[in-house]
Amino acid sequence: MRSIAVINQKGGVGKTTTAVNLSAALSEAGQRVCLMDLDPQAHASLHLGLALREGEKSIYDVLTGDTTLAEVRRQISQNLWVIPAHLDLAAAEMELAGEVGREVILRDKLVADLATYDQPPYDYLLMDCAPSLGVLTLNALTAVDEVFLPLQPHFLALHGLSKLLRTIDIVAQRLNPTLKLTGVVLCMYESGTRLAAEVTNDVEEFFSRRTTSPAVWSQAQSFTTRIRRNIRLAEAPSFGQSIFDYAPQSHGAEDYRRLAREVMGLPIGEAVTAELEARG
Ligand code: ADP
Ligand code: MG
Repeated sequence: MRSIAVINQKGGVGKTTTAVNLSAALSEAGQRVCLMDLDPQAHASLHLGLALREGEKSIYDVLTGDTTLAEVRRQISQNLWVIPAHLDLAAAEMELAGEVGREVILRDKLVADLATYDQPPYDYLLMDCAPSLGVLTLNALTAVDEVFLPLQPHFLALHGLSKLLRTIDIVAQRLNPTLKLTGVVLCMYESGTRLAAEVTNDVEEFFSRRTTSPAVWSQAQSFTTRIRRNIRLAEAPSFGQSIFDYAPQSHGAEDYRRLAREVMGLPIGEAVTAELEARG
Protein backbone atom coordinates (compact mmCIF):
# COMPACT_ATOMS: atom_id res chain seq x y z
CA MET A 1 0.00 0.00 0.00
CA ARG A 2 1.24 3.47 -0.84
CA SER A 3 0.29 6.20 1.60
CA ILE A 4 0.45 9.78 0.37
CA ALA A 5 -0.34 13.09 2.09
CA VAL A 6 -1.24 16.00 -0.18
CA ILE A 7 0.29 18.99 1.55
CA ASN A 8 0.94 22.67 1.07
CA GLN A 9 0.38 25.10 3.94
CA LYS A 10 -1.03 27.59 1.45
CA GLY A 11 -4.72 27.47 0.68
CA GLY A 12 -6.15 27.48 -2.81
CA VAL A 13 -3.27 25.73 -4.56
CA GLY A 14 -5.18 22.60 -5.63
CA LYS A 15 -4.70 20.18 -2.71
CA THR A 16 -8.31 19.10 -2.41
CA THR A 17 -8.93 19.04 -6.15
CA THR A 18 -5.85 16.84 -6.53
CA ALA A 19 -6.56 14.56 -3.56
CA VAL A 20 -10.15 13.95 -4.70
CA ASN A 21 -9.62 13.58 -8.43
CA LEU A 22 -6.37 11.65 -8.20
CA SER A 23 -8.12 9.24 -5.80
CA ALA A 24 -11.02 8.92 -8.23
CA ALA A 25 -8.67 8.44 -11.19
CA LEU A 26 -6.66 5.74 -9.40
CA SER A 27 -9.86 3.93 -8.43
CA GLU A 28 -11.14 4.21 -11.98
CA ALA A 29 -7.89 2.58 -13.08
CA GLY A 30 -8.71 -0.42 -10.88
CA GLN A 31 -6.75 0.54 -7.77
CA ARG A 32 -8.45 0.31 -4.37
CA VAL A 33 -8.21 3.78 -2.86
CA CYS A 34 -9.04 5.31 0.48
CA LEU A 35 -9.20 9.10 0.74
CA MET A 36 -8.92 10.57 4.21
CA ASP A 37 -10.11 14.12 4.81
CA LEU A 38 -7.87 15.82 7.36
CA ASP A 39 -9.02 19.39 6.74
CA PRO A 40 -11.61 20.88 9.12
CA GLN A 41 -13.12 22.65 6.12
CA ALA A 42 -14.20 19.14 5.00
CA HIS A 43 -13.87 20.13 1.34
CA ALA A 44 -12.80 16.69 0.15
CA SER A 45 -15.80 15.06 1.88
CA LEU A 46 -18.19 17.61 0.38
CA HIS A 47 -16.56 17.26 -3.05
CA LEU A 48 -17.55 13.60 -2.98
CA GLY A 49 -21.06 14.31 -1.73
CA LEU A 50 -20.48 13.50 1.93
CA ALA A 51 -22.05 16.23 4.05
CA LEU A 52 -22.11 14.72 7.53
CA ARG A 53 -25.04 15.38 9.79
CA GLU A 54 -24.78 16.27 13.47
CA GLY A 55 -23.77 13.20 15.43
CA GLU A 56 -22.37 11.23 12.48
CA LYS A 57 -18.88 10.03 13.28
CA SER A 58 -15.87 11.39 11.39
CA ILE A 59 -12.10 11.53 11.55
CA TYR A 60 -12.53 13.86 14.53
CA ASP A 61 -13.85 10.97 16.61
CA VAL A 62 -10.96 8.78 15.49
CA LEU A 63 -8.34 11.35 16.52
CA THR A 64 -9.90 12.36 19.82
CA GLY A 65 -11.56 9.15 21.03
CA ASP A 66 -11.85 5.38 20.78
CA THR A 67 -13.53 5.34 17.38
CA THR A 68 -11.72 3.14 14.84
CA LEU A 69 -11.04 4.09 11.22
CA ALA A 70 -13.29 1.23 10.09
CA GLU A 71 -16.23 2.78 11.95
CA VAL A 72 -16.08 6.02 9.97
CA ARG A 73 -14.93 4.75 6.59
CA ARG A 74 -17.54 4.72 3.84
CA GLN A 75 -17.42 3.08 0.47
CA ILE A 76 -18.64 5.50 -2.17
CA SER A 77 -17.93 3.53 -5.35
CA GLN A 78 -16.52 0.19 -6.36
CA ASN A 79 -12.90 0.96 -5.51
CA LEU A 80 -13.16 4.14 -3.49
CA TRP A 81 -13.54 4.65 0.26
CA VAL A 82 -13.68 7.94 2.12
CA ILE A 83 -12.86 8.75 5.72
CA PRO A 84 -14.78 11.99 6.06
CA ALA A 85 -14.26 15.13 8.10
CA HIS A 86 -16.68 17.57 9.58
CA LEU A 87 -16.23 21.19 10.71
CA ASP A 88 -15.79 19.95 14.28
CA LEU A 89 -12.32 18.75 13.28
CA ALA A 90 -11.14 22.33 13.92
CA ALA A 91 -11.60 21.64 17.63
CA ALA A 92 -9.20 18.69 17.44
CA GLU A 93 -6.22 21.03 16.97
CA MET A 94 -7.06 22.61 20.35
CA GLU A 95 -8.11 19.44 22.12
CA LEU A 96 -4.93 17.63 21.17
CA ALA A 97 -2.63 20.55 21.93
CA GLY A 98 -1.82 19.35 25.45
CA GLU A 99 -1.75 15.64 24.74
CA VAL A 100 1.44 13.57 24.94
CA GLY A 101 2.20 11.80 21.67
CA ARG A 102 -0.41 13.84 19.76
CA GLU A 103 1.53 13.59 16.49
CA VAL A 104 1.36 9.80 16.36
CA ILE A 105 -2.36 9.24 17.03
CA LEU A 106 -3.24 8.75 13.38
CA ARG A 107 -0.30 6.44 12.75
CA ASP A 108 -1.34 4.25 15.68
CA LYS A 109 -4.94 4.15 14.46
CA LEU A 110 -3.77 3.15 11.00
CA VAL A 111 -1.54 0.41 12.33
CA ALA A 112 -4.46 -0.90 14.41
CA ASP A 113 -6.73 -0.81 11.37
CA LEU A 114 -4.27 -2.59 9.08
CA ALA A 115 -3.76 -5.27 11.73
CA THR A 116 -7.38 -6.36 11.27
CA TYR A 117 -6.70 -7.49 7.66
CA ASP A 118 -4.48 -10.20 6.19
CA GLN A 119 -3.71 -7.95 3.21
CA PRO A 120 -3.83 -4.15 3.13
CA PRO A 121 -7.45 -3.30 2.22
CA TYR A 122 -6.37 -0.71 -0.35
CA ASP A 123 -3.57 0.01 -2.76
CA TYR A 124 -3.49 3.75 -2.08
CA LEU A 125 -4.27 5.81 0.98
CA LEU A 126 -4.43 9.53 0.21
CA MET A 127 -4.83 12.31 2.74
CA ASP A 128 -6.16 15.76 1.96
CA CYS A 129 -4.54 18.15 4.43
CA ALA A 130 -5.47 21.53 5.84
CA PRO A 131 -3.63 24.68 4.74
CA SER A 132 -1.45 24.76 7.86
CA LEU A 133 1.39 22.88 9.48
CA GLY A 134 -0.60 22.24 12.65
CA VAL A 135 -1.17 19.04 14.59
CA LEU A 136 -3.48 17.53 11.94
CA THR A 137 -0.88 17.93 9.21
CA LEU A 138 1.83 16.61 11.55
CA ASN A 139 -0.34 13.53 12.14
CA ALA A 140 -0.54 13.04 8.37
CA LEU A 141 3.22 13.45 7.94
CA THR A 142 3.85 10.94 10.71
CA ALA A 143 1.47 8.37 9.27
CA VAL A 144 2.39 8.34 5.56
CA ASP A 145 5.41 7.34 3.49
CA GLU A 146 5.07 10.00 0.82
CA VAL A 147 4.15 13.64 0.35
CA PHE A 148 2.76 15.14 -2.84
CA LEU A 149 3.07 18.88 -3.09
CA PRO A 150 0.61 20.73 -5.31
CA LEU A 151 1.87 24.09 -6.52
CA GLN A 152 0.12 26.80 -8.41
CA PRO A 153 2.40 28.48 -10.98
CA HIS A 154 2.31 31.86 -9.40
CA PHE A 155 5.21 34.18 -8.77
CA LEU A 156 5.07 33.35 -5.04
CA ALA A 157 4.72 29.60 -5.65
CA LEU A 158 8.00 28.80 -3.95
CA HIS A 159 7.48 31.23 -1.11
CA GLY A 160 7.17 29.32 2.14
CA LEU A 161 8.40 26.11 0.59
CA SER A 162 11.57 26.07 2.69
CA LYS A 163 9.48 25.99 5.86
CA LEU A 164 7.44 23.09 4.54
CA LEU A 165 10.56 21.17 3.52
CA ARG A 166 12.11 21.85 6.93
CA THR A 167 8.99 20.50 8.63
CA ILE A 168 9.07 17.36 6.50
CA ASP A 169 12.74 16.97 7.33
CA ILE A 170 12.16 17.32 11.08
CA VAL A 171 9.26 14.85 11.06
CA ALA A 172 11.44 12.43 9.09
CA GLN A 173 14.25 12.74 11.63
CA ARG A 174 12.16 12.51 14.77
CA LEU A 175 9.01 10.58 13.98
CA ASN A 176 8.91 8.94 10.58
CA PRO A 177 12.18 7.88 8.93
CA THR A 178 10.40 6.56 5.82
CA LEU A 179 8.86 9.95 4.95
CA LYS A 180 9.77 11.38 1.54
CA LEU A 181 8.54 14.16 -0.68
CA THR A 182 8.04 12.22 -3.90
CA GLY A 183 5.97 14.38 -6.21
CA VAL A 184 5.31 17.98 -7.17
CA VAL A 185 2.07 18.58 -9.06
CA LEU A 186 1.61 21.81 -10.97
CA CYS A 187 -2.05 22.76 -10.71
CA MET A 188 -4.15 25.42 -12.43
CA TYR A 189 -1.57 25.54 -15.15
CA GLU A 190 -2.11 28.13 -17.85
CA SER A 191 -0.26 26.59 -20.75
CA GLY A 192 1.26 29.04 -23.13
CA THR A 193 1.84 31.77 -20.58
CA ARG A 194 5.34 32.97 -19.84
CA LEU A 195 4.68 33.00 -16.11
CA ALA A 196 3.73 29.32 -16.05
CA ALA A 197 6.87 28.39 -17.96
CA GLU A 198 9.07 30.54 -15.73
CA VAL A 199 7.66 29.17 -12.51
CA THR A 200 7.97 25.63 -13.85
CA ASN A 201 11.66 26.27 -14.48
CA ASP A 202 12.08 27.78 -11.02
CA VAL A 203 10.46 24.74 -9.42
CA GLU A 204 12.69 22.36 -11.30
CA GLU A 205 15.73 24.41 -10.42
CA PHE A 206 14.69 24.60 -6.77
CA PHE A 207 14.46 20.84 -6.45
CA SER A 208 17.54 20.07 -8.50
CA ARG A 209 19.59 22.32 -6.21
CA ARG A 210 18.28 20.32 -3.29
CA THR A 211 19.11 16.88 -4.57
CA THR A 212 22.43 16.99 -2.77
CA SER A 213 20.89 17.90 0.60
CA PRO A 214 18.51 15.94 2.86
CA ALA A 215 17.30 12.59 1.68
CA VAL A 216 13.66 13.51 2.24
CA TRP A 217 13.46 15.43 -0.99
CA SER A 218 16.26 13.91 -3.04
CA GLN A 219 13.65 11.74 -4.81
CA ALA A 220 11.19 14.56 -5.43
CA GLN A 221 10.09 14.65 -9.02
CA SER A 222 7.95 17.17 -10.76
CA PHE A 223 5.26 15.19 -12.51
CA THR A 224 5.33 15.67 -16.27
CA THR A 225 1.55 15.93 -16.20
CA ARG A 226 0.38 19.43 -15.48
CA ILE A 227 -3.15 20.04 -14.35
CA ARG A 228 -4.48 22.72 -16.64
CA ARG A 229 -6.86 25.36 -15.41
CA ASN A 230 -10.26 23.94 -16.26
CA ILE A 231 -13.58 25.35 -15.16
CA ARG A 232 -15.13 21.86 -14.89
CA LEU A 233 -12.72 21.08 -12.04
CA ALA A 234 -13.99 24.14 -10.18
CA GLU A 235 -17.64 23.25 -10.83
CA ALA A 236 -17.52 19.57 -9.85
CA PRO A 237 -17.40 20.08 -6.04
CA SER A 238 -20.75 21.86 -5.93
CA PHE A 239 -22.32 18.77 -7.52
CA GLY A 240 -20.68 16.48 -4.98
CA GLN A 241 -18.97 14.60 -7.79
CA SER A 242 -15.44 13.82 -8.89
CA ILE A 243 -14.46 15.15 -12.30
CA PHE A 244 -15.01 11.65 -13.74
CA ASP A 245 -18.68 11.67 -12.80
CA TYR A 246 -19.21 15.34 -13.49
CA ALA A 247 -17.35 15.87 -16.77
CA PRO A 248 -15.51 12.73 -17.87
CA GLN A 249 -14.49 14.22 -21.22
CA SER A 250 -13.08 17.47 -19.84
CA HIS A 251 -9.44 18.53 -19.83
CA GLY A 252 -9.58 18.21 -16.05
CA ALA A 253 -10.55 14.53 -16.27
CA GLU A 254 -7.90 13.95 -18.92
CA ASP A 255 -5.16 15.55 -16.81
CA TYR A 256 -6.00 13.67 -13.60
CA ARG A 257 -6.25 10.39 -15.53
CA ARG A 258 -2.82 11.07 -16.89
CA LEU A 259 -1.45 12.02 -13.48
CA ALA A 260 -2.81 8.75 -12.06
CA ARG A 261 -0.93 6.79 -14.71
CA GLU A 262 2.24 8.65 -13.86
CA VAL A 263 1.72 7.98 -10.15
CA MET A 264 1.25 4.27 -10.94
CA GLY A 265 4.46 4.32 -12.94
CA LEU A 266 2.72 3.60 -16.25
CA PRO A 267 3.60 5.27 -19.53
CA ILE A 268 1.43 8.34 -19.93
CA GLY A 269 1.36 8.59 -23.70
CA GLU A 270 -1.16 5.78 -24.01
CA ALA A 271 -3.75 7.50 -21.83
CA VAL A 272 -3.82 10.40 -24.21
CA THR A 273 -3.99 8.14 -27.26
CA ALA A 274 -6.83 6.10 -25.72
CA GLU A 275 -8.65 9.29 -24.85
CA LEU A 276 -8.41 10.58 -28.39
CA GLU A 277 -9.51 7.24 -29.80
CA ALA A 278 -12.50 7.15 -27.44
CA ARG A 279 -13.58 10.51 -28.76
CA GLY A 280 -13.25 9.32 -32.35
P1 ADP B 1 -6.71 23.80 -1.66
O1 ADP B 1 -7.29 22.50 -1.24
O2 ADP B 1 -5.22 23.78 -1.80
O3 ADP B 1 -7.17 24.94 -0.82
P2 ADP B 1 -8.49 23.59 -3.93
O4 ADP B 1 -8.21 22.27 -4.55
O5 ADP B 1 -9.69 23.68 -3.06
O6 ADP B 1 -7.22 24.11 -3.15
O7 ADP B 1 -8.56 24.66 -5.10
C1 ADP B 1 -8.85 26.03 -4.86
C2 ADP B 1 -9.92 26.50 -5.83
O8 ADP B 1 -9.45 26.40 -7.16
C3 ADP B 1 -11.19 25.66 -5.76
O9 ADP B 1 -12.29 26.49 -5.98
C4 ADP B 1 -11.03 24.68 -6.91
O10 ADP B 1 -12.27 24.24 -7.41
C5 ADP B 1 -10.27 25.51 -7.91
N1 ADP B 1 -9.38 24.71 -8.76
C6 ADP B 1 -8.46 23.79 -8.35
N2 ADP B 1 -7.79 23.28 -9.39
C7 ADP B 1 -8.29 23.87 -10.51
C8 ADP B 1 -8.00 23.78 -11.91
N3 ADP B 1 -7.05 22.96 -12.40
N4 ADP B 1 -8.72 24.54 -12.76
C9 ADP B 1 -9.67 25.39 -12.28
N5 ADP B 1 -9.98 25.53 -10.99
C10 ADP B 1 -9.31 24.79 -10.10
MG1 MG C 1 -8.40 22.04 0.45
